[in-house]
Amino acid sequence: MADLYGQYLKIKEEVDASMQEVIRSTVFIKGGKVTEFERHLADYQQSEVIACGNGTDALQIAFMALGLEPGDEVITTPFTFVATAEVLALLGLKPVFADVDPGDFNLSPVLAEAAITPRTRALLPVHLFGQSAHMEEFMTLAGKHGLHVVEDAAQSLGADYIFNNGERRQSGTLGIIGCTSFFPSKTLGAFGDGGALFTCDADMAVRIRSIANHGQRVRYHYERIGMNSRLDSLQAAILDVKLRHLDEYVAARQKAAAWYDHHLQGVGDLLLPERRPWSTHSFHQYTLRTSRRDDLQSFLKEHGVPSMVYYPRPLHLHEAYHYLGYGPGDFPVSENLTRTVLSLPMHTELDAQQLEYITDTVKRFFEF
Ligand SMILES: *Cc1c(COP(=O)(O)O)cnc(C)c1O
Repeated sequence: MADLYGQYLKIKEEVDASMQEVIRSTVFIKGGKVTEFERHLADYQQSEVIACGNGTDALQIAFMALGLEPGDEVITTPFTFVATAEVLALLGLKPVFADVDPGDFNLSPVLAEAAITPRTRALLPVHLFGQSAHMEEFMTLAGKHGLHVVEDAAQSLGADYIFNNGERRQSGTLGIIGCTSFFPSKTLGAFGDGGALFTCDADMAVRIRSIANHGQRVRYHYERIGMNSRLDSLQAAILDVKLRHLDEYVAARQKAAAWYDHHLQGVGDLLLPERRPWSTHSFHQYTLRTSRRDDLQSFLKEHGVPSMVYYPRPLHLHEAYHYLGYGPGDFPVSENLTRTVLSLPMHTELDAQQLEYITDTVKRFFEF
């Protein structure tokens, strides 16, 4: 599904030199490399950037920074990675699910609005697989109902949001806070864990930085309850190099996606990932839909093609979230997606031969 070693070999000298600098300096926590990486990512994102331990922490810090009360409701999607809802539950907030659009897999603004109650405080769209949710609609909803918007941009770093008037902004910088992850397989991946928060609000940036650092701005002066969540200097050294290649990485993914689009159009009952005019697609995943998903996956496996099901079950049907009181049939689009989606290999090192083998194998399956 990914070729992280092949990707490393192409930038080995730069990465090794950057890591050596950190080792030589022995500043392994905070300090130069982390600040440098934050500054470079801030230039890229055109927002403030606060690095932290991982994407899950970024989400938790975001909701701590909003200062919500226990029982406050946050509307999000059940068709996502668990972290999105998990942090809400951990903080005593109530995850309220609304269903997604079947074509782009993202939270539906119309269904999100229908889920608003007097206890709703925030909207948490996830830009799944690398394409942004319809942020202008969420911002309008938020304005109308006095809600915060936090973006889960763990999968969409490198994508642009495109406004109705044609203006563009980096994904994750429209809401009050955006959260991302540098998990190794993400579009900008570290050699371990890492994450970051984005905000264009200077006061919010100060609060976030304090929360991520034990609730202190001045050392040993705790102004709020915080946590310990930081990006290692070695990870920052790696990410700082990879950031310089991020646009190439996104372009390589888009090129592979274009191949898949071209060669899988009209094959069997396949539905290809739909593109939306309000976002570029960074293709964290290339995700098909077919009624013969399980058989297709077995066939691919027999022929040496890896594939993955993201995600095999919607969050509302997991044991841990039964307490929320949802049941089967509550979010039919998400439930149907969990039975029909299949993600093909998607990374920066796919060559023409591999792509051809993958699409030929998919086509052969549907010839039966
Ligand atoms: C990866 C991911 C996260 C969590 O990131 P970690 O760095 O693994 O903690 C959160 N939300 C989504 C949608 C993700 O894909």
